[in-house]
Amino acid sequence: MFLRFNSEFNLNPKHEILIRLPVDKVTKDRFTTIATGSRQSSREMTENRENLMSTTGSSYKVKLLLCGPAAVGKTSLIKRFVKNAFQADYKLTIGVDILTKDVGLRNQEVATLSIWDVGGQKRFEFIRTTFYKGASGAILVFDLTRAETYQEVTKKWAEEVTRNCGAIPYVLIGNKADLVEKVGRVMDPNEAAQWAAANNSIYLETSALGGQNVDEAFIEITERMVGLKK
Ligand code: GDP
Ligand code: MG
Repeated sequence: MFLRFNSEFNLNPKHEILIRLPVDKVTKDRFTTIATGSRQSSREMTENRENLMSTTGSSYKVKLLLCGPAAVGKTSLIKRFVKNAFQADYKLTIGVDILTKDVGLRNQEVATLSIWDVGGQKRFEFIRTTFYKGASGAILVFDLTRAETYQEVTKKWAEEVTRNCGAIPYVLIGNKADLVEKVGRVMDPNEAAQWAAANNSIYLETSALGGQNVDEAFIEITERMVGLKK
C-alpha cells in the first residue's frame, strides 16, 4: 500500500497541499489490487513496474499517467473518455485526480485502467513520487495550438517519465484538433509522428471537445500496456 484512502488528507502541513482521492471515483479494493498485485509480466520489469499489473479472472489492472504542460487538455481528455463529457471553462487540477474505467480488449478480456491526472502541485516531491510509482503506461499530451507545448512534452516530460518509470509504453497526443482550422498549423505533424515512431510509439491528433480519436488513444495505450501491441 502506498496511499491512504481518506477522501482528503494533508500531505505536508508545512506546504498545505492536499491530494484528492475521491472515494466515489476510486474504491479501496480496486486500488489495493493495483498496488499489491502479484503477477509480473516479465523478469526484466524495473522496480517501478513491479506489482503494477495483476490479473484476477480475465482482467488486467493497470495504472495510466496523463502527462503534459498545463492547459493542454489532460483533464478534458480523461473526462471525454470516462464520462463522454466536455467542460469549456478551465479548472486547474489540484493535487492528483484518479479515475477508473474498464476497457474491453480485442482478446475479449477487460482492462481496468486507473487514470492519473496530475495538477499544478507536481513540483512537490511526494506527489511526483506517488504519481509515477507503479505506472505501466503514459499518454503524453501537447496542445496543437501552442508549439512550445510540443517541445516541452517531447523533451522534459518524456525524459521525466523514463527516468521515473523506465521504458514504459506511451502514446503522443496533439490535442485541440478542432482548433487547427482556425489557428493554423503551428508545428509539423510529421515531426511528431517521426518522434513517436523513433520512440516505439504512435502519434494521434485528438479533440476532447468533439471526441475525435479520444477512445482510440486510450485503447491504443491500453493494448500496449497489457502487451497486446508492441
Ligand atoms: P489540463 O490543464 O491539461 O488538464 O487542461 P484542461 O483539460 O483543464 O483544459 C484546458 C482548457 O482547454 C479548458 O478550457 C478546456 O475546455 C480546453 N480544452 C481542452 N481540450 C480541448 C479541445 O480538444 N478543444 C478545445 N477547443 N478546447 C479544449
Ligand atoms: Mg488538469
